[in-house]
Amino acid sequence: MSHLMNTYGRIPVAFSRGEGPWVWDTEGKRYLDALTGIAVTGVGHAHPRLVRAIADQAGRMIHASNLYRIPEQESVATRLTGLAGMDRVFFCNSGCEANEAAIKLARLHGHHKGIEQPVIVVMEKAFHGRTMATLSATGSRKVQAGFEPLLLGFARVPYNDRTVIAQLAASNKNVVAVLVEPVQGEGGVNIPDDGYLPFLRQLCDEHDLLLMLDEVQSGMGRTGRWFAHQWTGIRPDVMTLAKGLANGMPMGACLAAGAAAEVFTPGKHGSTFGGNPLACVAADTTLQIIEDEGLLENALRIGSQIREGLAARLAGVEAVREIRGKGLMIGIELDRPCGDIVAMGLEAGLLVNVTADKVIRLLPPLILKPAEATLLVDGLADIIRAFVRANEPAAVAG
Ligand SMILES: *Cc1c(COP(=O)(O)O)cnc(C)c1O
Repeated sequence: MSHLMNTYGRIPVAFSRGEGPWVWDTEGKRYLDALTGIAVTGVGHAHPRLVRAIADQAGRMIHASNLYRIPEQESVATRLTGLAGMDRVFFCNSGCEANEAAIKLARLHGHHKGIEQPVIVVMEKAFHGRTMATLSATGSRKVQAGFEPLLLGFARVPYNDRTVIAQLAASNKNVVAVLVEPVQGEGGVNIPDDGYLPFLRQLCDEHDLLLMLDEVQSGMGRTGRWFAHQWTGIRPDVMTLAKGLANGMPMGACLAAGAAAEVFTPGKHGSTFGGNPLACVAADTTLQIIEDEGLLENALRIGSQIREGLAARLAGVEAVREIRGKGLMIGIELDRPCGDIVAMGLEAGLLVNVTADKVIRLLPPLILKPAEATLLVDGLADIIRAFVRANEPAAVAG
């Protein structure tokens, strides 16, 4: 019997090492990693420069405490806020914690404005984490069921829709913020219209609301820009990061700009581990690697190659509803549930994921090379074709 709590239906394979986009299981079988631990190991496994930086820092100091100044934290804060064009950052250890910080910030901001029951607008199909506040913000009954009572103070609207949110912002004086993913990840790699984020920016300006972007999955170069919202030219008031931030060292961040950056004062929020020297050096080095190796451009180039390759190889397969994505955040939507694709991929030496039941999700490392992308495209196209053949809707007996 396992002594682990039964929170995951685990695939019965264990990995013992990785190198770049490759991982090996304990039996020595090699896999191409097109999932990266869910958008985490963007610069690949065991990147020599990152390994050295982490080892060196571990040999100097792992933990200090936020009761003191932490130069490594100040350094990565400067780099990160510079890339985002934002002012300040709070460091924590995960995506849900980053969103917790954003939610607390928005509520405090509301109270400062005299709003005692602040409301944050959130989206259908959103995913923001599994703490009580973030699961309440999440738009999935599966995530929430059994954990009621949920937190009050969230109002839900359809994603990529302008009418409902505009009516809500105009009619509800308690609304203080909008929390939204620039591309929905867990919800099925849902990409809004080009004008949607600028529309939200304008709406927030009109009604004095904070625009808070959850870039936990879409950030850190994943879409071919540092942050997915940078495709639109807008700047959010608050942005959250985690997943790829430190390439696997646990780390989250809540960034803020302008007035939102001045909301927290000592005693209002904190974290024992958040922003420790080890995680900060890992993040700083990850950012430098992305920059020095031109990985934003690579994510864009390889992302197009994968989408175009799949479109060509899957032409005429009617079960494929849509192939969509931005950079290396890619979804292939089928017309039927396709969870079995994960096991078929594993068999073929490919690590892929299925989310929202019918969407095959690819989150390959930003370092992927064209030849490796070709392996992924060819392998996955064969798997999808085989899956569709084996799972045709039952034909009418003749
Ligand atoms: C994964 C994810 C989270 C939660 O991050 P954890 O580190 O698992 O808490 C929050 N928001 C988005 C968009 C995510 O993809």
